[in-house]
Amino acid sequence: MTTPARNAPAGDARSSAGLIGAETPVLAHNYHPLPVVVARAEDVWVEDVEGRRYLDMLAGYSALNFGHRHPVLTEAAHRQLDRLTLTSRAFHHDQLASFASGLAELTGLDMVLPMNTGAEAVESGIKLARKWAYDVKGVPADRATIVVAADNFHGRTTTIVSFSTDETARNGFGPFTPGFRIVPFNDLAALEAAVDETTAAVLIEPIQGEAGVIIPDDGYLTGVRELTRRAGCLFIADEIQSGLGRTGRTLAVDHESVLPDVLLLGKALGGGIVPVSAVVARREVMNVLHPGEHGSTFGGNPLAAAVGSAVVGLLATGEYQRRAAELGEVLRAGLTDLTGRGVTGFRARGLWAGVDVDPSLGTGRRISERLMAEGILVKDTHGSTIRLAPPLTITREVLESALATLEKVLV
Ligand SMILES: *Cc1c(COP(=O)(O)O)cnc(C)c1O
Repeated sequence: MTTPARNAPAGDARSSAGLIGAETPVLAHNYHPLPVVVARAEDVWVEDVEGRRYLDMLAGYSALNFGHRHPVLTEAAHRQLDRLTLTSRAFHHDQLASFASGLAELTGLDMVLPMNTGAEAVESGIKLARKWAYDVKGVPADRATIVVAADNFHGRTTTIVSFSTDETARNGFGPFTPGFRIVPFNDLAALEAAVDETTAAVLIEPIQGEAGVIIPDDGYLTGVRELTRRAGCLFIADEIQSGLGRTGRTLAVDHESVLPDVLLLGKALGGGIVPVSAVVARREVMNVLHPGEHGSTFGGNPLAAAVGSAVVGLLATGEYQRRAAELGEVLRAGLTDLTGRGVTGFRARGLWAGVDVDPSLGTGRRISERLMAEGILVKDTHGSTIRLAPPLTITREVLESALATLEKVLV
């Protein structure tokens, strides 16, 4: 019997498996992953192919808010896998209605349009707003505009990158979709000036995640709500990353008790198991969609709906929001303590922080590599900013030890 492993360099299962990006000529180079090959995970821990354990402080960009393989979620998925996985929307199935009503109740809005990825939810929100502008507001055909914020991140489709201000995300992908106006984030006067009778919606992230966890001034979200109501256009909040417990509330807009007309959800909605996204909206808005005008083969499939329902069930307990709020104070205290000692500034809300590292200590990438060597996985955003977003299931002890490791790497 041959033992191929004998030919591989001893102790390097990663390269023998041929799995690291640079050594994988068949994989598109649209990512630059850290050199770790993950083989298994549980809760806040991931383990690589050589059995090394790491704390996951990225949590799948908040798709893993409940940790890896939360037992309630894997149980819901297993149960559904053994009953029914896909019907298409040509037929009803027995999981979708309860998922939709649970999500509507959780968010305080009326109707749910299930999709799969975040970008699809954003695309669907744009289509919904345009249709509403023509059918209800009376904007002349093809004249609807949507006002967005600079430094946004809403996904990667051609229409979405059309209103990105990130040149890396845009360059080479034109021609772009018209109909968007870009104003600075956190600037109500600029927003007011950009909104007119053609405006279908204002689309913003309540906290800009990819931009470095940029939190607007208190009152900004309330201002956007009042301004859009006065101007007779929709307020669309992209809570794909900020929502579902991350900031210590169910939604980031809850911090100002603001209810948008349209809410975009994704990432954690799939419990880290399957892609699940949704547009949740007021009834008068969602009702502009009629059969045949929009759809998705996989959107709202039985497996997605079963997992999504279980996610809604976890959030309905309030436990995860509470944990994020309480442990967010621990995170804030730790980062405050590091400010001036390797950290030049940070922004945090709940278990979510953008940490600006002293550039003389290296790029965000370099810091991420050094943290990885110490057993912590994070991801840089821009330049010297790293984002911390552990699963909301993290314990106080583990969070404190992660902060101690950060101190060791930075100081
Ligand atoms: C991740 C993200 C998206 C896109 O989600 P995908 O599932 O990657 O398409 C959209 N908006 C925000 C705010 C996000 O963080």
